[in-house]
Amino acid sequence: MVLQTLGFSNAEPESSTEVVGILPNSINVEDIKYETYTIGDIPGGELPELPIGFFYTGADGHEQKITKYSVVPDVDMGNYSLILGLKENQGSQKVIETLSSFLGEVIDKIGDYSPKVIAQSMKISVTKLFSQMYLADITTMIFGVRMAAIGREIACNVECPAPCNTMCRDNPKEGRDLHSLDVVKIRSMTGIDTKPLFRFELPIGVYDGESTIKNLYFQPLKFEDLSYFMQSGKPTVSDVQLAIAMISDIPESKRYNMVRGKKFSIELYKSMRAADAGALIQAMQRIQPGLEPSFKVSCVCGQKELDYAVQWAQNARNFIFFSNLPVVEEI
Ligand SMILES: [Zn+2]
Repeated sequence: MVLQTLGFSNAEPESSTEVVGILPNSINVEDIKYETYTIGDIPGGELPELPIGFFYTGADGHEQKITKYSVVPDVDMGNYSLILGLKENQGSQKVIETLSSFLGEVIDKIGDYSPKVIAQSMKISVTKLFSQMYLADITTMIFGVRMAAIGREIACNVECPAPCNTMCRDNPKEGRDLHSLDVVKIRSMTGIDTKPLFRFELPIGVYDGESTIKNLYFQPLKFEDLSYFMQSGKPTVSDVQLAIAMISDIPESKRYNMVRGKKFSIELYKSMRAADAGALIQAMQRIQPGLEPSFKVSCVCGQKELDYAVQWAQNARNFIFFSNLPVVEEI
């Protein structure tokens, strides 16, 4: 009786261990679908929508998916730019905090709500609210703020490798036009109505010392996970770090379910067969939503297409407020 009042039923026998590894509302990694478009596909004056979405449970207990947001009307004012006074080579934690509190100031509404109202209802700070959002959504939002502040034109500055060695600096006065963010690609996840949880079944299975694990569950990277990949200012991604950041549940493992926070570990990775590790890496490559913060620019030599990486995190102040200005040669 006690169990029934708690919502448990004793009408059915305990289900077999075969279903232990399957969590409800999860989507197979193989079934993830994307819609890909470019910023150029978005009408002028509009901002790119969140490619995953913010899942907000309001006072009525109903979870809603929000993909639209708005930026404060006077976002081009200097006082907003000053919030981004990051010094070069500051640690990743500082970058995440600074950008999160900046977004708390410049994002007017997420859906119909101000960030302050959402944070209050979740009993967290506004900074925490943004640092816990999906990385893909945060990158897109920062591009949205940039578009609202100064538009889509961007001045690129990149050096063509040897033997050309030309410094390609966009400066219309010197005959090199500015580029546009219109070519930037966005991969939006489709068919996701609830907070995404992706299931992947290992081909062999890994033994954790007590039980064999077949199913791993992934969530998209959060903004705060960026700290795993940014060391001394340079982003470094290793497959194992990515797995630690993204794997949120290992229901078949008693041992790993006792762990608070991140479930996957280097130790568990070391116990994997190559076939499982390779399949795991492929599975993670399928979970890459969001905006690609880089594009190709061509050199005057005509020989090279160069990758231009937008410095949206470490050099956010310049990117959001000043990167539409022609690049001048340093004196
Ligand atoms: Zn060149």
